[in-house]
Amino acid sequence: MLETVFFMSGAIFGSFFNLCIYRLPRDISIITPGSFCPNCGQKIRWYDNIPIISWILLFGRCRDCKEWISIRYIIIEILTGLLFLFLFWFCGLNKELFIWLFFFSLLLIISVIDIETFFVLGKVTYPGIIVGAVLSFLIWKPIDHISGMLLGGGIIFLLVKVSPKLFGKEGMGEGDVEVAMLIGIFLGWKLILSTLLISSILGVIIGGGILLFTNRVGSHIPYVPYLAAGGFISWVFSEKVEAFFAL
Ligand SMILES: [Zn+2]
Repeated sequence: MLETVFFMSGAIFGSFFNLCIYRLPRDISIITPGSFCPNCGQKIRWYDNIPIISWILLFGRCRDCKEWISIRYIIIEILTGLLFLFLFWFCGLNKELFIWLFFFSLLLIISVIDIETFFVLGKVTYPGIIVGAVLSFLIWKPIDHISGMLLGGGIIFLLVKVSPKLFGKEGMGEGDVEVAMLIGIFLGWKLILSTLLISSILGVIIGGGILLFTNRVGSHIPYVPYLAAGGFISWVFSEKVEAFFAL
């Protein structure tokens, strides 16, 4: 029963995240106006705005101008539903759950914006880092989490500075530094190290594969999704990571 509630609230939040992903990089308010079609500007009726279901009923097209609505909309709604369901199942119903719902939702939004625009928005990452810093002092060990932020941000910062000299082009950007700081402050220094390791492996395998298959070797790859995935995997297996550091 609660599983259904979490999946459905996830899909509803996913619908809101879609709006954020479209509007935040374009500097449009995320509160007003209500949802509109990016193609014809027509306001979306409430019955066409039901997460997952509306997209299927409309066969992925706008009711007014019949333009395709990006498949990203339904993918994010389903993905957020599954994320909420998984986190509920993993954490149980407690205050920690709400922290991780917030954190992984934020990573999801930042990742998709990076994929679509190649931008990481400071107006999203910095408030997240501040929330993480407050939580560190309120309920976690501040030293573990502040050092996680500095370590994550520091390592990526060095890579940003060094990689143009080694490879003659920029591999990562300043935005990746902010995201590494965000993950570091929430997960602490041990998990940020495994995050960086996992993300670089995923980046090489998946990112490299995509570049080869799409024949765009040498072009920019968004790194945030790999950091986010690395952070998620590290968090899920945090006991194993902690045990490794205890050796
Ligand atoms: Zn339209």
